[in-house]
Amino acid sequence: NRRVILASRPEGPPGEDNFRIEEVAVPQPQDGQVLLRTVYLSLDPYMRGRMSDAESYSEPVALGDTMVGGTVSRVVESRLSGYAVGDWVLGYSGWQDYALSDGAGLVNMGANPDHPSYALGVLGMPGITAYFGLLEIGEPRPDETLVVAAATGPVGSVVGQIGKIQGCRVIGVAGSIEKCRYGVEELGFDRCLNHRDADFPEQLAAACPSGIDIYFESVGGAVFDAVLPLLNDFARIPLCGLVSQYNATALPPGPDRMSLLMRDVLIKRLKIQGFIIFDQYARFGAFSEALGQWVGEGKIRYREDIVRGLERAPRAFMGLLQGENFGKLVVRVGAD
Ligand code: NDP
Repeated sequence: NRRVILASRPEGPPGEDNFRIEEVAVPQPQDGQVLLRTVYLSLDPYMRGRMSDAESYSEPVALGDTMVGGTVSRVVESRLSGYAVGDWVLGYSGWQDYALSDGAGLVNMGANPDHPSYALGVLGMPGITAYFGLLEIGEPRPDETLVVAAATGPVGSVVGQIGKIQGCRVIGVAGSIEKCRYGVEELGFDRCLNHRDADFPEQLAAACPSGIDIYFESVGGAVFDAVLPLLNDFARIPLCGLVSQYNATALPPGPDRMSLLMRDVLIKRLKIQGFIIFDQYARFGAFSEALGQWVGEGKIRYREDIVRGLERAPRAFMGLLQGENFGKLVVRVGAD
C-alpha cells in the first residue's frame, strides 16, 4: 500500500523533492467502514494551492500528509450498508493505493458503470465547473463570441462545446498546434489559437472581428492581456482559474496596470465573477446528468490523458501546470 505524501512546500514550480512515496500497511475497516482500492486518481491544477500554506478557500495539506485528490475506487471489503464488494465509488481518497471511508462524500456508482473515470472529468468536478461557469456566469446567447482558455482540458473543452450548443462563435486558446487542431477538428470550435505564438494577440484580434462577449478565464497572464482590449461592452468573464500564476512567487514585473483594468471594468460595464465549484455541490447530480445526456448524444466529446502508476503522479502533476497534458489528466493507480 503506497501513498504519496507532501514532503515539503514548493517555492515556485513543484519538484520531485516536494513529494515522497511511503509504504504503509493496508488499513483494516471497522464496522461502518469500507476499504477502497484506488483505480483512478484525478490530477487537477487546484492541488498546487493545497501544497502551499498561503491563505485560500481551503486548508492546505499538512507536511507529511497524503496528497488530496478525487478518486474512482472499488470496494474491496465492506462493513457499511449500501456498499458491496466490487462496487465502483467516486470519492476523495487522495494519492494512495488504499483508503478507508465511512461513506461521507462517497458516491456509489454501482457494479458496472460505463467509463468509470469520466466521473473525475466530464461528468464530475471539471465538467460541472464548465457547465455552471459558462451557463450561469457567462450567460451565453446565440451569435455571441466566446473565447475559452485552456481549451482542450476537461474544463475548457466542455465550456467550448457547450458554447457551440448555445449557438456561440467559439474561439479556443491552447498551448500547441496539435491541441489547436484537435480543438477545431474534434471539438468543433470555430478557431483555436496557440497562446505560445509570438503574434498571439494579433491572431486573437483577427479571429474576433466583432469583439469578445464572454471570456472563460482559466489561465490569466498573457492570455488575459490579449483578451482585455477586445472585450465588448457588457462582456462577462467567469473567473474559473489562473493557472499561469499558480507557481508565481511574486507579482509580475512591469508597471501596475490595475487602474487600466478597473477603468475597462467601469466604462465597458464588465462582469468579472470568480467562483469555486464546491459552493454548487448540492447541484452536482443535476449538472452531471445534463452533461451525461450531451456526452451520450455525441454533442460533447471528451479526451483523457492517462498516466499509468501512482509513482508517476508527481511528475505528471508538475507537467499539468506547464500544459504537458493533452486532455483530462488521470493516473491509473490499480487494475480494475
Ligand atoms: P487543464 O487540463 O486544462 O490543465 C491546465 C492547462 O492550463 C494546461 O494543460 C495548459 O493548457 C494551461 N496552462 C498551463 N500553464 C499555462 C500558462 N502559463 N499560460 C496559458 N495556459 C497555461 O486543467 P482543468 O481543465 O482541470 O482546469 C482548468 C482551469 O480551471 C484551472 O485554472 C483550474 O484551476 C480551474 N478550475 C477551477 C475550478 C473552480 O471551482 N473555480 C474547478 C476546476 C478547475 P495549454 O497547453 O492549452 O496551454
